[in-house]
Amino acid sequence: MATIFTKIANGEIPSYKVAENDEFYAFLDINPLTKGHTLVIPKHVEDDYIFHLDEETYMGLCAFARKVAQAVGKAIPCKRVGVAVLGMEVPHTHIHLVPLQTEGDLDFRKPKLELSQEEFVAIAASIRAAFEQN
Ligand code: AMP
Repeated sequence: MATIFTKIANGEIPSYKVAENDEFYAFLDINPLTKGHTLVIPKHVEDDYIFHLDEETYMGLCAFARKVAQAVGKAIPCKRVGVAVLGMEVPHTHIHLVPLQTEGDLDFRKPKLELSQEEFVAIAASIRAAFEQN
């Protein structure tokens, strides 16, 4: 059975899309640690552990995440874009990109932001625009 993230990449479940190519898809985390918190996934490989990916998919995912992180950094005021891989919840490899002001912003135990649909739409549009300018 397809994972929720495969359904998102296929457009069967809605998401706030940030970037996409044939192999990879990036969208906003719906429970963000900070504004602009983005997830990057391989579209066609569901393996739930990043270090089980074949090398080509792993390298491609990292290269795509790098471009997305550059766009996140341009669109969202922050000191750094932090990177994390957890996979404790969704069994489909994904990289978290989190705009940071302090190291505490990458603490997954803290309460998540509650954003309106309009805020999610505006954040996704600004990152998408930065991605498309690259
Ligand atoms: P983890 O598997 O521990 O890396 O956490 C999964 C992440 O996916 C969490 O930060 C969730 O908020 C996020 N998430 C789960 N379902 C969705 C969804 N439908 N759209 C966007 N983000 C999601």
